[in-house]
Amino acid sequence: MDTKKLVCTVCPNSCSVTVELNESGEPVRVTGNRCPRGEAFARQEITCPVRVIASTVLLRGEDGQEALLPVRSSAAFALSKHAQTMELLRHITVRAPVKMGDVVIHNLLDTGVDVIASCNS
Ligand code: SF4
Repeated sequence: MDTKKLVCTVCPNSCSVTVELNESGEPVRVTGNRCPRGEAFARQEITCPVRVIASTVLLRGEDGQEALLPVRSSAAFALSKHAQTMELLRHITVRAPVKMGDVVIHNLLDTGVDVIASCNS
């Protein structure tokens, strides 16, 4: 049986977690986690890893000046969609004024996650 070692990133304890995989690469047993959140993290990490994304989009000010607006996803979503997301963000222009938390992209790539502004601008 194959095993995979991970470091749980859910809390600062950073537990070293071992996942036993079946012949299909699916997780069957998780050890080393100090709490149930670590098992959920490990199973998710093996089957469909997710992360929050942070980047910038072009911001056009009321005076026509351009700047970069920091943005992030409202929650973690599939890592497999991050490259497509970064490409999408390269082509987005937002008009000022923007408030922190304003939605820049709703339901990003049908993930159910939004891209939101990280600051006022
Ligand atoms: S397994 Fe539990 S205690 Fe350990 S890092 Fe993950 S969340 Fe924290």
